[in-house]
Amino acid sequence: MMNRKESIRNVGVIAHIDHGKTTMTDSLLVKAGMLPSQIASSARALDYLEEEQRRGITIKTANISLLHEMEGKAYIINLVDTPGHVDFTGKVTRALRAIDGAIVVVDAVEEIMAQTETVTRQALEERVKPVLFINKVDRLVRDMQLSKEEIQKKFLRIINDFNNLIEIFGEPEFKEKWKVDPAKESVAFGSALHKWGFTTATTRREGIKFSEIAKACTENKHQTLAKQIPLHDTILNMIVKNSPSPVEAQRYRVPKIWKGVAESEIGQAMMKCVDDGPTTMCITMAQMDPKAGLIATGRLFSGTVEDGKPVYLVGAREEQIIQQVSMYMGASREKANKITAGNVAALTGLESARAGETLVDVTFKDAMIPFERVKYVSEPVLTMAVESENPKDLPILIDAMKRLSVEDPNLVTTVSKETGEYLLSGIGELHLEIATKFLKEYTGGIDVATSEPMVQYNESIAEKGAQVMARSANKQNAFWIQAEPIEKAEFGGNDRSVWAVDERENMLVDRTENVDHLSEVKDSIIAGFRWACRTGPLCEQPLRNLKVKIMDAEIHEDPLQRESAQIMRAVSRAILGSFLTAKPVLLEPIYKIEATASTQSIGQCTNIITRKRGKIFSSEQKGALAIIKGYIPVAESFGLSAEMRSATSGRAFWQFFFDHWEKVPEQIASDIIKQVRKKRGLPPEVPKPEKFADEI
Ligand code: GDP
Repeated sequence: MMNRKESIRNVGVIAHIDHGKTTMTDSLLVKAGMLPSQIASSARALDYLEEEQRRGITIKTANISLLHEMEGKAYIINLVDTPGHVDFTGKVTRALRAIDGAIVVVDAVEEIMAQTETVTRQALEERVKPVLFINKVDRLVRDMQLSKEEIQKKFLRIINDFNNLIEIFGEPEFKEKWKVDPAKESVAFGSALHKWGFTTATTRREGIKFSEIAKACTENKHQTLAKQIPLHDTILNMIVKNSPSPVEAQRYRVPKIWKGVAESEIGQAMMKCVDDGPTTMCITMAQMDPKAGLIATGRLFSGTVEDGKPVYLVGAREEQIIQQVSMYMGASREKANKITAGNVAALTGLESARAGETLVDVTFKDAMIPFERVKYVSEPVLTMAVESENPKDLPILIDAMKRLSVEDPNLVTTVSKETGEYLLSGIGELHLEIATKFLKEYTGGIDVATSEPMVQYNESIAEKGAQVMARSANKQNAFWIQAEPIEKAEFGGNDRSVWAVDERENMLVDRTENVDHLSEVKDSIIAGFRWACRTGPLCEQPLRNLKVKIMDAEIHEDPLQRESAQIMRAVSRAILGSFLTAKPVLLEPIYKIEATASTQSIGQCTNIITRKRGKIFSSEQKGALAIIKGYIPVAESFGLSAEMRSATSGRAFWQFFFDHWEKVPEQIASDIIKQVRKKRGLPPEVPKPEKFADEI
């Protein structure tokens, strides 16, 4: 069946948290005979991780394939589950790469909310076509006791708001075609909990009126409704009719997500979704399985994947062999031996594959350009220290941290060279909280202690520093160094005097003339530069935007007198000394925030943002909605969500992501420096330049 591509649908379910995504997905699984119907709403097959069950939110994407029959024809529906929280949008977007259609679940009581907007917008940006499921209709009837007219008004408002999102965020080419419409059966209504649902087609076919459904609902006759208008049939029919097959979708999606030449052999194979062309696959998820090793899941755009087939990973630049090809059925994988273009496949044996990786036939390894990077920039700006209570358990903890960062590229694990602490950095509060839970699960219950998440600051300078000299401990070598702020334009070019640059835009430049033996200690000098840049003198935060110039040096002729550790330390001291004379400043990470709300409540949003040291830089009106964009310091973002929700009664949508680094205002900076120094067990006062320098 996988070869009949017009019968395949690759879809995902996206929703605001608690709107019923998991409950609905489970009711689809009943259909596939995978879950007995009576436990469908409690078993939560896709939320198979214990943590997800406990918190009731879906964190990891899982895939499942369903067989569905409509009007005498069979279809394969590959369902990709996506997480629903904004902190995990990286994962949502990667999952979106694999699908062509999305079922957007909206709670009829709460209507369209923050993440409904975020995920719908992301889907539209990836050219994923949405359909709408208005859930929890039973609550309108039973809990809220709304009249038929009131319910209709509510439905209309949700549909209008949703189409408004398509109007604002959809691409001009698709906007009109993709707007949902009950008459086109692209909107379904129902109750995921009670497993019934309908579209205009269902009510017509069954000859049932909405008033009759409402009556049955009031009388608690859910089982009768579930038999007459079963939710899975309604939803799966809606997908078959409205979501594109891979053949149809790849024609317009490939040019959006892949920037190679459309006329090339690879381009044509992908756009036409052919099996007998080069194999191309976009990996959307990597998970470590204790037994099978790394499992890479993704969407096959052309060609086939088979057991034993060698493939090339474009990002990792490695050739590896597929051990086993399988399909996901919730928590379990079923062997498939071979899977063809247009499907979602899970592969073992590719130990270097990561989410976002491009996989290609080895014969085309030089011709393939990678898929567009998932549009998602972030920097891990929150850090916490992680520790095993029993030092013996440390190796287990380290393994688990490695697994975490493989599965989630937005999590960064580091070891602090200075304190020896193990650090975990993530993009937001909840992100780290969830990571901690996984860490505990992966370490199999050893005692793991974590610190409060701390904002990652950077240290920099505002003006040119003094030229500072520092000697090595044996007094046989000396370095004269000067630090100054760097201009962005200085990067690039091919200046031979540039010895090193790092990821925080620090640069080491050689300005010396005729210093004997300098080239022999070059590596140690660079190491000293990197060492200094890792921990600044203000409060041991990394340095940023520094140009470090070696002005002069004296190097002893005897190699025994210029030991690497001695050189490193002297260079590092001279850098920190000059840094302290250069008007040091503290930099903090800034989130960009975008909020959408009704024109009435937008004032409240603006107030909250500006009260938290934020700035609004643009505001525009789109219909009944206002959109504001601004910046807010990460340090002020704790608890922001709760405040925004209560100030706007949950009728605002917002999202934030890392944008840039900015100088902390001076009065605030000195307090922060004191606090961080205290936490790190340092004396309260920032040291004087003389502590590092032998001569200024
Ligand atoms: P998710 O976070 O989007 O996956 O939402 P869940 O599927 O976990 O549902 C959140 C809560 O809403 C759960 O307590 C469900 O039992 C409940 N729920 C889901 N669908 C319905 C529905 O149709 N009617 C009612 N009354 N409750 C529902």
